[in-house]
Amino acid sequence: MTQQIAHFIGGQRAAGASTRTQDVTNPATGKVTGKVALAVQADVDAAVAAAQAAFPKWADTPPIRRARVMFKFLELLNLHKDELAHMITAEHGKVFTDAQGEVSRGIDIVEFACGIPQLLKGDFTDQVSTGIDNWTLRQPLGVVAGITPFNFPVMVPMWMFPVAIAAGNTFVLKPSPTDPTPSLRMAELLKEAGLPDGVFNVVQGDKVAVDALLEHPDVKAISFVGSTPIANYIYETGARNGKRVQALGGAKNHMVVMPDADIDQTVDALIGAGYGSAGERCMAISVAVLVGDVADKIIPKLVERTKTLKVLDGENLAAEMGPIVTRAAHERITGYIAQGEKEGAKLLVDGRQFDGSKAGAGCGDGFWMGGTLFDHVTPEMRIYKEEIFGPVLSCVRVANFKDAVDLVNGHEFGNGVSCFTRDGNVAREFGRRIQVGMVGINVPIPVPMAWHGFGGWKRSLFGDMHAYGEEGVRFYTKQKSIMQRWPESTPKGAEFVMPTAK
Ligand code: NAD
Repeated sequence: MTQQIAHFIGGQRAAGASTRTQDVTNPATGKVTGKVALAVQADVDAAVAAAQAAFPKWADTPPIRRARVMFKFLELLNLHKDELAHMITAEHGKVFTDAQGEVSRGIDIVEFACGIPQLLKGDFTDQVSTGIDNWTLRQPLGVVAGITPFNFPVMVPMWMFPVAIAAGNTFVLKPSPTDPTPSLRMAELLKEAGLPDGVFNVVQGDKVAVDALLEHPDVKAISFVGSTPIANYIYETGARNGKRVQALGGAKNHMVVMPDADIDQTVDALIGAGYGSAGERCMAISVAVLVGDVADKIIPKLVERTKTLKVLDGENLAAEMGPIVTRAAHERITGYIAQGEKEGAKLLVDGRQFDGSKAGAGCGDGFWMGGTLFDHVTPEMRIYKEEIFGPVLSCVRVANFKDAVDLVNGHEFGNGVSCFTRDGNVAREFGRRIQVGMVGINVPIPVPMAWHGFGGWKRSLFGDMHAYGEEGVRFYTKQKSIMQRWPESTPKGAEFVMPTAK
């Protein structure tokens, strides 16, 4: 039986006005498990109206009381962590232990949001002029919306709503229709934690829902995470409509491997970061930049490890990699592998050969492939330039450190990057010169922790501020400056010159 998946508006599940639906599939088996509603304008209007109605009271609730709801939500998330992880595996396909990791990284942001009274504390200056004090405070924006991708159905929404809500905003989440179920469970847990109805709403849907949010006059800010063309569209449309926009886009993350790197550690890092979550992470490593003669030492080991990856049903605890999220994504990735061969890259391991029926019982019709490894990839090839978003690792050979840095800096994306070396000076130079937002030194996936903020550079982020951390708090609040004096210290007479400190 397929499950009907709809919206969560004003504190309850809502069927909505739409008759359009999209199939939700278990990628391991290829079976349709649900039908998700695709909202029409009226559904978005209802969610925004519920959020707008809840805003004044929630914004006026003392931050410490909003934080207490977050503390309770945190407790419930820890209790229901595995339930959420199973939901992720069932609709996304990533292996269960990785899904648990995803929920944990979302929980980190809730922990951060529990500190909202401290984060919202303003500045105060006594006596900016004789008898006058000046202070700043940060106030919430109103109704804010989040539009999220398929690849982290729990973590990426949690990059947004815990900070937004704790700061006093009300929220409308538009998750990916590919894996919509966890969003509804999070809404229920928030309600159970004591969040007033209407503060958090979920509208399922596609471009129709996104456009309705972009056009809605009561939506004050939009956070988006997804592919670069859509991020660009969201940024331009949202900004044109007078909204604050933070739009995180696609990636092509390089790992520069210096000749002095520890080879076994580097191979472990490349295999985990290239094929973990089937390469469907915006921080996945998709290009290994092999400097000098390191290629000769590393390639044979990479071939061996790629061939022996444990590609299994995500519920199997021995699994290292699960299936690809959808049939369409599978076709896109196999198309890129064919393209790479055509362009003259050397195909060392071909993931298309993988037989899905070996992944587990009932997996014969799932969206399976093994890891793919290319060598001698060059910068003009499409498999180098474009985001493949699958388990395909491309090796590019360069002569020296400078060429490696120039290569990375020449790419249009600038999300994540890492450098494996034992040389402190190389590491330092790399960190300073690289034109990428998130950098790892001997760390393959340097996703910043909750209080540091997440965001790339170049065409990996449109807007000024990074997600979560203090930048997240700034994004979801506006600063107000208040200057005050009292009659006893107010001199007589009108002043016509620009006020200066006296
Ligand atoms: P996507 O761009 O297809 O979808 C993202 C969201 O936009 C979804 O909610 C989707 O319903 C909506 N959407 C899709 N097409 C739209 C359209 N034409 N108009 C308006 N809205 C539309 O991305 P995806 O395939 O779900 O996710 C994978 C992408 O997300 C990859 O490019 C990946 O790099 C990126 N991503 C980036 C980050 C980051 O932090 N930079 C994090 C995770 C994923």
